[in-house]
Amino acid sequence: MTWHILGGGSLGCLWAARLQLAGQPVRLILRPAALERFQAGANQLLFTDLQQQQHALTLPAENATASPPIQRLIVATKAHAAACAVADIRHRLHPSSQIVLLQNGIGSQQEVAALVPDLQVIIASSTEGAWLQAPFNCVHAGNGHTQMGSLHSHGTAPDWLATLQQADIACQWQHAILPVLWRKLAINCLINPLTVIHQCRNGELAQHAEHINLLATELQHLLQAVGQSEAAQDLPTTALQVIHNTAANHSSMWQDTQQGRRTEISYITGFALQQCQLQGLNCPQLTALHRQLQQHLRQRGLPDH
Ligand code: NAP
Repeated sequence: MTWHILGGGSLGCLWAARLQLAGQPVRLILRPAALERFQAGANQLLFTDLQQQQHALTLPAENATASPPIQRLIVATKAHAAACAVADIRHRLHPSSQIVLLQNGIGSQQEVAALVPDLQVIIASSTEGAWLQAPFNCVHAGNGHTQMGSLHSHGTAPDWLATLQQADIACQWQHAILPVLWRKLAINCLINPLTVIHQCRNGELAQHAEHINLLATELQHLLQAVGQSEAAQDLPTTALQVIHNTAANHSSMWQDTQQGRRTEISYITGFALQQCQLQGLNCPQLTALHRQLQQHLRQRGLPDH
């Protein structure tokens, strides 16, 4: 059964390469300009794995308007592009299609699920790291794992999960994926915006531990209010641990701003703030952080949403 991968950025290329190396049939779905670029390079995807081994892979690609039906779709766009991308391809989905969403943050998953209410939507939360040294030249930079689960608690693990695991793609099924998303959201809220505001690597945030603690307290209140108390446990300590463990890294939001790309702010601090408002929570620290980040983005000529 073919895997269709929507989006040929860092994570789309990572998944495409690993699936193809595992002997799975893969097709990329690209926008017209990206498709043209890929075809001009003879449909070649270069992939450097975690052992620094390079692979030159050739794989088929098409745009969304092609007609063959899609059984398994991996959506590898940024959060703000996911719903639009799925809407463009909806005509190729049918009741037994499965969609895997790789987006960071929270909110885009619900947007996609609302577009295809009858289909199985699987949410993935990944700690892997991949980047492109050139278009369709992907480096698997960070060893991580991917947790997958259904947005609805009744979802069961798909039969292909074992195939991925046998191919050494580190992934596991989570019966409750929302706590995983919330925990990651909270950590992202504590790290990503501050790396943009202070223009620094993750490690330098250790100097801002007091500010991080204040923000973490508000986020803990939010997590408790939305029924995610477990995700609230030890949040400040975990955030400081992540900062320590990833000291040399640049956050994804920092990288986006450096490369003049739209950030996923609306699905990180934007989502957290919206939820605080829905819960009637006062969150002055988070509000100030979000506004400061928006101001920073505007100064760089980037969208503030
Ligand atoms: P990325 O490199 O910016 O790739 C996104 C790709 O989506 C771009 O190549 C873009 O192509 C494509 N795209 C957008 N709309 C499309 C559409 N309608 N049809 C087809 N392609 C479309 O982003 P990324 O780093 O792979 O991240 C993807 C998601 O994974 C994000 O939510 C990110 O936070 C999350 N994530 C990433 C990593 C990582 O290490 N990279 C790790 C964990 C989670 P165009 O060239 O056409 O714009």
